[in-house]
Amino acid sequence: METGRCPHVLFFPIPSQGHMNPMIKLAELLALTGIRITFLNTHHNHERLLKFTNMAAHFARYPAGFELRTITDGLPEDHPRSGHWFPEMFEDGPEMKIKQSLREMLVDIIPPVDCMIVDAFLGFALDVARELGIPIFCFRTSSPCCFWTSYSIPDMIQAGELPIKGSEDMDRLITTLPGMETHFRCRDLPSYCRATDMEDAFIKLLVKQTRKSAKANALILNTAEELDGPILSQIRTQCPNVYAIGPINAQLKSRNGELYHHFSNTLWEEDKTCISWLNKQSNRSVTYACFGSLTSMSREQLIELWYGLVNSNSKFLLVVRPDSVIGKDEGEDVDVVKELFDKSKDRGYIVDWAPQEAVLNHPAVGGFLTHSGWNSTLEAVVAGVPMICWPYFGDQQVNSWIVSEVWRIGLDMKDVCDRKMVEKMVNDVMVDRKEEFAKSAAELAKLTNQSVRVDGSSYCNLDRLIGDIREMSL
Ligand code: UDP
Repeated sequence: METGRCPHVLFFPIPSQGHMNPMIKLAELLALTGIRITFLNTHHNHERLLKFTNMAAHFARYPAGFELRTITDGLPEDHPRSGHWFPEMFEDGPEMKIKQSLREMLVDIIPPVDCMIVDAFLGFALDVARELGIPIFCFRTSSPCCFWTSYSIPDMIQAGELPIKGSEDMDRLITTLPGMETHFRCRDLPSYCRATDMEDAFIKLLVKQTRKSAKANALILNTAEELDGPILSQIRTQCPNVYAIGPINAQLKSRNGELYHHFSNTLWEEDKTCISWLNKQSNRSVTYACFGSLTSMSREQLIELWYGLVNSNSKFLLVVRPDSVIGKDEGEDVDVVKELFDKSKDRGYIVDWAPQEAVLNHPAVGGFLTHSGWNSTLEAVVAGVPMICWPYFGDQQVNSWIVSEVWRIGLDMKDVCDRKMVEKMVNDVMVDRKEEFAKSAAELAKLTNQSVRVDGSSYCNLDRLIGDIREMSL
């Protein structure tokens, strides 16, 4: 229902690329309907976004207001903030500082905030919202199957399914997770479930945050009913109100049309020369290999990857973030691999950071060798690109399960990631079983893209979310 006053929504993501991407896109979807947005980024990420994107100018055109504001991450100025650093924000000291800043901002902000949409991992924001009487929605940016497994950890412990009893136990089937019955093994659980001690501080924090986020006014998930129906049904037994509004990139494209292509929100500079290289390749002949914004790999892993790609029968476009190789001589290690790549120039192309959605939608790309981050997975689903999954940590192990076992649009090389396996799986997806995977990926893309068009499930769920936000400002 339209009113004279426009609602004001405050967004607060965790400062990582994979969490910020879908939240910025949701903020833009709301701004398109005339909702006023205040979007919080940490000081550090704000600077990077201004450096690499035209974000400020892009959002300035929304008449209801789209303000970018900064907030502390609670850490000292000289903290390196590279790799997988943000869990440090949840230590007592930093968290108290962020909580205090958030409270002060919400008390002072004009016009007052009608509702907050925060990252589901920012449990302290729920306390602040309750204290100030502001409705709060939690956006869980990782996959619904990860949410559901994390939520169910206490039940799995009680049923005796966790902890996993060593490497010989990894292929045991998990039977007490309703909605996830399709050949779901211990090794398919999120990586933190591999801990031998279920009293581990990280697991306890995850379960606490997950269960707390289920108590928000609503839970927002980046998926479609068509992709995760059985899991969503289970989540709804525990959460009062779930909005499945994804894939958010497709939803924004569907509602924003051409404008969508003119904006990126990345924390690294995109190397667009790879698009010119792709333009010279034949249709569906290239494997795109990229491992997201946080994954790090050893020099050995990178070399196995390189041999696997070079020995396969496919050309390849590889992304190696400069900070992605772990070890003492990080810079040198990347250089070693770049030298190897110089020797395979006719077969491949390498960049530091790619315009990923444009790459996945390029006709030359026929397969995606991915770490199975949830955004990357959904971006490939929307583009209809089959996947070869090399999961590293967190929800990646469970995402690669859904890709291979449930959607059947790719292969999962989980835990056996050597050059032979890379070569075999790339050949399977790009050559030997090419038509089979291309067909299943195209069918899932069609179904998924329908969900974000007028009257589609995600389209209607987003309309319901927008309507509910408007009601709050009456
Ligand atoms: N991304 C990109 N260029 C790259 C690598 C990644 O634009 O070279 C984007 C990608 O499109 C995705 C996000 O970064 O939206 C990574 O999120 P994901 O959930 O896949 O993985 P994470 O980085 O959180 O592990």
